[in-house]
This record gives sequence, structure tokens and C-alpha cells, in this order.
Amino acid sequence: MKVPLLIIGGGLSGIAAAIRFARFAPGALILEKHSRIGGLNSYYFRNNRLYETGLHAITNFAPAGNKKAPLNRLLRQLKLSRDQFVFHQQFQSEILFQGCESLVFSNDFQQLKDEINTKFPHSADGFTQLTAFLSNFDPFQITPFNSTRIFLESLLSDSLLIDMLLCPLMYYGSSIENDMDLSQFAIMFRAIFQEGMFRPGGTIKDFLDVLASHYHSLGGSLRTGAEVRTILHTNLTVHGVTLTTGETIECDYLLSTVGLSETLALLQKPETDYHVPRLSFVESIFQLPENKRSHLPQDRTIIFYNSAPEFHYCSPADLVDYSSGVICFPFNFNGLPQQEYIEVRSTHLANSSGWKALADDREGYVEQKSVTAEKSKQVLEEIIGTFKQDIVFQDTFTPLTIERYTAKKEGAIYGSPLKIKNGNLGYTNLFLAGTDQGFLGIVGSMLSGVSMVNQHILSRL
Ligand SMILES: Cc1cc2nc3c(=O)[nH]c(=O)nc-3n(C[C@H](O)[C@H](O)[C@H](O)COP(=O)(O)OP(=O)(O)OC[C@H]3O[C@@H](n4cnc5c(N)ncnc54)[C@H](O)[C@@H]3O)c2cc1C
Repeated sequence: MKVPLLIIGGGLSGIAAAIRFARFAPGALILEKHSRIGGLNSYYFRNNRLYETGLHAITNFAPAGNKKAPLNRLLRQLKLSRDQFVFHQQFQSEILFQGCESLVFSNDFQQLKDEINTKFPHSADGFTQLTAFLSNFDPFQITPFNSTRIFLESLLSDSLLIDMLLCPLMYYGSSIENDMDLSQFAIMFRAIFQEGMFRPGGTIKDFLDVLASHYHSLGGSLRTGAEVRTILHTNLTVHGVTLTTGETIECDYLLSTVGLSETLALLQKPETDYHVPRLSFVESIFQLPENKRSHLPQDRTIIFYNSAPEFHYCSPADLVDYSSGVICFPFNFNGLPQQEYIEVRSTHLANSSGWKALADDREGYVEQKSVTAEKSKQVLEEIIGTFKQDIVFQDTFTPLTIERYTAKKEGAIYGSPLKIKNGNLGYTNLFLAGTDQGFLGIVGSMLSGVSMVNQHILSRL
């Protein structure tokens, strides 16, 4: 069997890439190792109930009329109409440090500017200069690493403000410890603070179903339960792949969305020699009956907190670092219909090698998962008040869960600290898209898939 385009991975970047290609040429085939699509942003069933694996919010909200906004450009590139989705905007979110320093922001950027003018008056001019700089900055240029911390220190006199601004942007999109590349910062600043957050109506399954049925309507093919074991190549040209079943599929072009190290492993290339720590997380879901909603914050969609004297965004020495994290209330979006149950979700930094050491100790692993959920609830209660007694279901994902279900090395949601921004791995017909191309999150990974197909494949047909 030979196809014009093979895509390894049915996550959001792979699906978007496949739709983009299928709009112009027949014969795209997605190979996904799991039984369902979505990758890092998928769903599962427990007790006949659907749970999303992680969706907090989608970044890059834009009103329909803003034609240049990334969200609307993405929909256009995929030939999807906004009418096919319902978008619910966040209420407002908060960055909360040491329980008292607070910055509240929403999808109206002016709110954050006003907060900074009032709470950090010494940095107000610097913040204005920062936004002016970012509006003229091209984050897509390929440049060496440029430290955001050093840059922010040159503009903002309050180190607390620097940490507070970095906290949500790092949690939602940095694969690097304690700093961000300035280009990534610019992308995330726009995505979260200037454009804002929303969630699609229904569940992530509904969102994925729309994408899958659109792809099929364009003639594209998808195989789940199809794990690629090796990429077949001669010198720098790829011929196809072999699946774990032994089946071989040939292709003209190959797009890999599984990550940089993961793709090099499929090529049977030696590991690259950088040993920079990868960041992983633990994520818990706490489900409560809807009638307990009044016990939870009514006007916050997401709280990014730090309770330590300094904010450390790095792999912790312990299994989990509870001193900072993200608390999401997925029911606090505008216009959501009432549901039977609501959820509170928490995210904290985790030590992936510590969790890995428990891989063969089932009992120890289950116990540590339970300890993690308990400690997470305790920390959350200090911030949002008591809710433990109302929980009817809870689940915790560790770096091991993430690695098992997505094959992301060390369960690192944001992948390798090294990004290949042009997607070029030095092969004539193999390109990288998704997390390790450098665009993170749902909109980011979808834009990555689209732009890699545009740049490297459609332009050559
Ligand atoms: C818990 C959690 C919460 C998150 N919350 C949010 C959020 O609220 N908002 C947001 O914007 N983003 C969120 N993200 C991040 C977002 O999900 C990712 O950035 C994005 O989905 C990455 O998409 P991708 O296609 O690049 O990679 P992936 O989703 O990792 O897709 C890669 C796919 O390749 C498949 N694969 C791997 N190896 C093989 C192989 N050998 N053969 C075949 N298939 C293979 C995997 O199974 C996977 O489906 C979250 C992630 C997690 C884990």
C-alpha cells in the first residue's frame, strides 16, 4: 500500500495537518496507536460517563469578525465554519501569589492592564512598553534562545509581577525550566492575556468528532490501533513505515507528530545528547454534583497559584510540587448549559523519573496516586475553601499515565525543551509537526499541523 501523505499521530496537530492536506489532494492517512484520536487532549469512560483527559480551556479566543486572529485563520485553513461549534468564553481567571497578591484577567485585555496599573504602578509604563514591543515582534522567526526573564527584568521593576505574568504562560506552554524563549512568551502572552480563553460546547469528544467527520468527508483515512514501529528510509529519504503488526505502508511524504526524540527513535537514530530535564505534571479531576456548585468559586474559571516565597517552574525533587499549580473550574464559562455534575481540576509539576521508578511497583504507584490526590485537595482547599466532602468521583493522571497513553517521553506534555521550529529534520520528505515543532496547546498544535503541511508538502505538489 502506498499513500501520498502518512501522518504519525492522531492528536490535534495530526488531525489538523490531515484535514489541510485532504482539502487539496486525496490519499492522506493518519496512523494512531490508540483506539481513539485526540492524543493529549482526549477522553475516556468510567461507569458509563465520559471524562475529558485534560481540557481546561482553549487559548486564542477571537470574535468571529477578527479575520486575522489565529483561531479564525485556523478555521479558514481547515474550511471549518464557526457555526459548526459553540464557543463559551471564560468568566475571568486569576493569578494568585502567596494567597494575597492577585491579578485578575479575562478575555478583555484592558482588565489586566488596569490591574497592573493599580497593583504594580511602578511597572505600569514598562508593561505598556512590553505590549508595544510584542505587537511589533515576529515570534515565528528562527532565532537562538532569548531569555524572557532577562528581557522582562529590563522592562518591569517588580520581580513579583514578572513571576506572576510568567506563571500562567509557563504552565500552559513552556517546556523549559524557570524561563521561556522570548518567541514562545510572545505567542503565549497573546494567546492567554490578549486573546483569552474559551471552551467548545459539549465535550472534547464532540469537538474531535466534528474534526474527524470533516476529515472523512474530504476523503481522508484514519487508522486507530495502528502503532508505527519504524520509519523506513534510505539515507535522507523516507519510503514509509512499518507497524508493530509487521505491516508496511509506503508514502511520498511523512509527517510525524509524536515528538522529536520519539521520531528519532522510530528512525533508529541515536538519542541526541542534550540532557535537559523535561517537565511533567500530575493532573487530578474531582467531580461533584451540580447542586454543590455554590460551595466553589462562582466567578473564576482558572486560578494559577503560587504559595512559595519564589515561583519555581522546574522538575521537583519530590514526586510532586504542590507549592504552585493550576486550579480549573470547567463549569465556569459563559453560557454553558447546566450539567448533572461539575468538576474541579488541578495541575502540579511532577518529577517524571520519580514516577517512573514506581512503574513496576503497582501497589506503591497506586498509593502515591492516592497521596497525590489527597495533598492536591488539601492545597486546593486552602485556596478555594472546602469541597472534599462533596466529591463523588476522582482520578489522577501521572507522567506515567501520559507516557502510556500518548507515548510522550517522560510524560512531558510540552515535549522536548529543544524545538525544531521549521519542522525540518534534514530529510527530503519527513517533517515534524505538533508539540516539538514549538506550537503548544490545542490551537497551537493545530496551527503547527496546518503550517507544516502548507510549507513543506502542499507547496511541492
Ligand atoms: C492533562 C492535560 C491537559 C491539557 N490541557 C490543555 C488545555 O486545557 N488547553 C490546551 O490548549 N492544551 C491543553 N493540553 C495540551 C494539548 O493537549 C497539547 O498541546 C496538544 O494536544 C498536543 O497535540 P499534538 O498533536 O502535538 O500531540 P499529541 O496529542 O501527543 O499527539 C500525538 C499522537 O501520536 C500518537 N502516537 C505516539 N506514538 C505513536 C506511534 N509510534 N504510532 C502511532 N501513533 C503514535 C499518540 O498516541 C498521540 O495520539 C493539555 C494536555 C494534557 C496532557
